[in-house]
Amino acid sequence: MLLSNKVCVITGAASKRGIGRAIAKLFALHGGRSIILDLDAAQASAAASELGEAHRGIACDVTDKDACIAALDRVVGDFGRVDVLVNNAGITQPLKFMDIAPGNYDAVLDVSLRGTLYMSQAAIPHMRKQRSGSIVCMSSVSAQRGGGIFGGPHYSAAKAGVLGLAKAMARELGPDGIRVNSIAPGLIQTDITGGKLTDDLKAEILKGIPLNRLGDAEDVARACLFLASELSSYVTGATIDVNGGMLI
Ligand code: NAD
Repeated sequence: MLLSNKVCVITGAASKRGIGRAIAKLFALHGGRSIILDLDAAQASAAASELGEAHRGIACDVTDKDACIAALDRVVGDFGRVDVLVNNAGITQPLKFMDIAPGNYDAVLDVSLRGTLYMSQAAIPHMRKQRSGSIVCMSSVSAQRGGGIFGGPHYSAAKAGVLGLAKAMARELGPDGIRVNSIAPGLIQTDITGGKLTDDLKAEILKGIPLNRLGDAEDVARACLFLASELSSYVTGATIDVNGGMLI
């Protein structure tokens, strides 16, 4: 089993059709203990209990540094270690550049960028002690293309920031045995995108995707399993594109 007894924390993993939930599920299938962090305690616990007794759901707003530290302390208190952190929580807003108000900017950057900083800062002291760990950060094709189908420019900025932050972390933390990588998903069918796709829009989007389909959360989860596990033991500072060829 690729993640036998590994303690894996995944943020933003309670959403039923979400990428985080698919990651938690796949990690559990491969022997990992999935710790589901999300805003709502009941939803996080329900998502974890669907996976079985070995897993946990904890309420944690990743924009709150103290909450991140408390969540990680609880994980290490209960399970003795943390092997994998997936910084997956993210929100988007479909705004044009000139319509972005300060509050919009703060909200979107806070979850993806501040959340990645705070959660990683909470996990790293424990990983340093173990001299091992894998951190996976969720970026987006929007960072690479300067725009997505649903995300505004502030979303592109946040997700580009995630790529830079992850590379800098990889450089600094490599000597401690901690690997840090990113995933840049293309258009994945989840609640972020769900319900907003008309047939005409979907046909238009598919013209730009060589694999001729939208992605599933499981497509992203499989890339995440690779980065979380020892399959990628010599990979750090990398970005895996999971986008059906959108950028070719
Ligand atoms: P989703 O909306 O289904 O899931 C996001 C989860 O994050 C939700 O469960 C939500 O409650 C949680 N969340 C939001 N704010 C939070 C906070 N402050 N603290 C903790 N949790 C919080 O979205 P998804 O499509 O599964 O997206 C997951 C990640 O993948 C996001 O970072 C998103 O930007 C990224 N992404 C998604 C797509 C796509 O097409 N769906 C493409 C590229 C990147």
